[in-house]
Amino acid sequence: MESSDKVWQDRYNHPVPWDQSFPPMSMVDMVVDSATANPDAVMIDFMGRKTTYGDMLHTIRRIAKGLQDMGVRKGDRVGLYLPNVPHYVAAYYGAMMAGATVVNFSPLYTAAELEHQVEDSGTKILFTLSAAALLPTAQEVLDNSSLERLIVGCVAEALPPAKSVLFRIFKRSETAPVPHDPRVTNYSDLLRHGENPAPVDIDPVNDVALLQYTGGTTGRPKGAMLTHQNLTANARQIRLIDPHPELVDRIIAVLPFFHVFANTCVLNRTVLNGGEMVMLPRFEAVQVLAAIQRTGPTSMPGVPTMYQALLDHPATPNIDFSSLRLCISGGAPLPLELKHRFEAVTGAKLCEGYGLTESSPVVCSNPYEGLNKAGTVGQPVPGTHVKLVNREDPTRPPPPGEPGELVFSGPQIMKGYWQRPDADKEVFVDGWLRTGDVGLIDEDGYVKIVDRLKDMIAVGGFKVFPSQVEEVLYHHPSVKEALVIGIPDAYRGECPKAFVTLQEGTEIDGEGLKAWLNPQLGKHEKVCEVEVRLNLPKTLVGKLSRKELVAEERAKAERA
Ligand code: AMP
Repeated sequence: MESSDKVWQDRYNHPVPWDQSFPPMSMVDMVVDSATANPDAVMIDFMGRKTTYGDMLHTIRRIAKGLQDMGVRKGDRVGLYLPNVPHYVAAYYGAMMAGATVVNFSPLYTAAELEHQVEDSGTKILFTLSAAALLPTAQEVLDNSSLERLIVGCVAEALPPAKSVLFRIFKRSETAPVPHDPRVTNYSDLLRHGENPAPVDIDPVNDVALLQYTGGTTGRPKGAMLTHQNLTANARQIRLIDPHPELVDRIIAVLPFFHVFANTCVLNRTVLNGGEMVMLPRFEAVQVLAAIQRTGPTSMPGVPTMYQALLDHPATPNIDFSSLRLCISGGAPLPLELKHRFEAVTGAKLCEGYGLTESSPVVCSNPYEGLNKAGTVGQPVPGTHVKLVNREDPTRPPPPGEPGELVFSGPQIMKGYWQRPDADKEVFVDGWLRTGDVGLIDEDGYVKIVDRLKDMIAVGGFKVFPSQVEEVLYHHPSVKEALVIGIPDAYRGECPKAFVTLQEGTEIDGEGLKAWLNPQLGKHEKVCEVEVRLNLPKTLVGKLSRKELVAEERAKAERA
C-alpha cells in the first residue's frame, strides 16, 4: 500500500485537505488561548451549575501554583482518580500547567489495581473525591505504596447535595469523611496558593502530558506516553474533519474522562473550540436523557452500548433530540442496525470512528457529511498514514487482497510506553504503530476492521475471528448483544462459544440459537454452545468485554 500524502489525497478524494501539518502546540497553550478568547463562555454545565472558561482558568492557575508549592516539578507524575466532575478538568490542566505529567486512574479501580499503577508510574500525588467509593481505596494505597499525598475534593462541592444520591458512583453511602492526616490536603486549600505559578518551558513534541494505561495487545497494563503535541494534534485532526468547525458545540460529557477517547473527543476537542460540556459523572440512560432534554446538546460522543441503552429506554420517545447534530461512536464495532435506528429516532448523524490508546486515540473516522460506508471505520484522519502488514512478519505486506495487521503513523502516535523499551520494540515497526487489529483497506481508502489479533480463536490450527460469528448472531431478531470467545476443546484445542442477551419480550434458548446459527457459519467457526444471559460484562467505558467470560470459562475448565 502506497501511503505518500499525495497518493492519499488524490486517490481517495478525502473530503477535507488530508495533507496537513500540525505545528507543535502544548496543552497549556491550548487551554489558556481558548479561555482567554472566550472568558465568559460556559465551559461546564454540571447538573445546572455552570463554570465559565474565565473561572476555570483562574482555578487551573491556582492548582498549578498549589502543586508547585508542594514541590511538583517538570515531569513529575500527578494522578487523577476521579469521575467526570469539574475538579477533573481543573486538576488535569492545572497539573500540566505546573509542568507535571497527568496519570489517569479508573474510578472503579480496586486498591490493588490502583497500587500497581501508582508504583509503575511513580505517581506521588493523587487527586480524588470524598466519595465513599473512592476515598477509602485511595487512603489504603496511600498507606501501602510510595504515594505521598492525596488531594481530596468534596463531593458536596461537586454536586448540588439534593441530587448527589442520584449517582451510583457516590452511592455506596456517598461521602467519606476526609481524614486529619498531614498527607491529605483539601482541594479547596490547594486553591488558596494564589494564581501565579512559575512558567514552565514545555517542549510539546517531547514532553509527556499524559500517561494513559492500557492493556495493549499483550501482557500487564502499560503506560502509553502521550505528548502535548500528540493530544493537541488529535484534537485538531478531529476538528478538521468537521465540516462545521465554526459551530460551538454543547457536548454531553458522559464518556469517562479517565479514558483517552473522552480526553480527546470530549474534553480537549471542546476546549479547543471554546464549546460547552454538559458533564455527567457516570452513564445512566435516564440521566443522559434528562440532560439532553434540559440542555439541548449538539453532540454526544459515546460507545455503541450507550446508544443502545438510550434507544431501549422507555422515556426515549418523549425526548426532544432536535438539537443533536452529531454523535461519534468509537471504541468497539457499531452494529449497522443500531446506527440506523439511532439516526431514525433522533434525527442526528451517528458516525463511527476508530482508534486506540496509543494513538491519542483517533486514527480513522467516517466523514460527518458524505459517504459513511457500512461496516467500515472510515478513512484516516488528516495527517495520518495507514497500511497493512503481514501478521507474522510485519516488515512485509500481506498477500494481495488479504487482510493484514493495521499499522499507523501520524502526529497523534504515542512517544512509546513508559519505561518499557521491550514493549516499544514489539509495538513499533519501522516507525509505524502496530494496532493488533486485523483489517482491510478498500479502493476508496475506507478501513474495515476484521478482528483483533489477541481475540482470535485457534480452532484446530485454523483462526476464527469472533466478531464474524457475532456479526451473524446480530442478524437474529431476538439477539440484543453477543460475545464470542474460545473455550478449551479436547480435540481442536479451542472451539467458539457464544454468549448473548435477548431483546426485551423475545424468547429463545441457546439450543435454538445454535441450530439457527451454525448452518450459516464456516466449518471451523461453528459454535459448540450458545448461552443466553441477562447481562454481558462491560468495561466502565461501556464496551462489551470478553475478558471476564474467558476467565470464567477457564476457571470452569480447571474445576472440571
Ligand atoms: P483502547 O486502547 O482500550 O481504546 O482499545 C483500542 C481497541 O479498541 C482497538 O485496538 C480496537 O481493537 C478496538 N476498537 C476501537 N474502535 C473500534 C471500532 N470502531 N471498531 C472495532 N474495534 C474498535
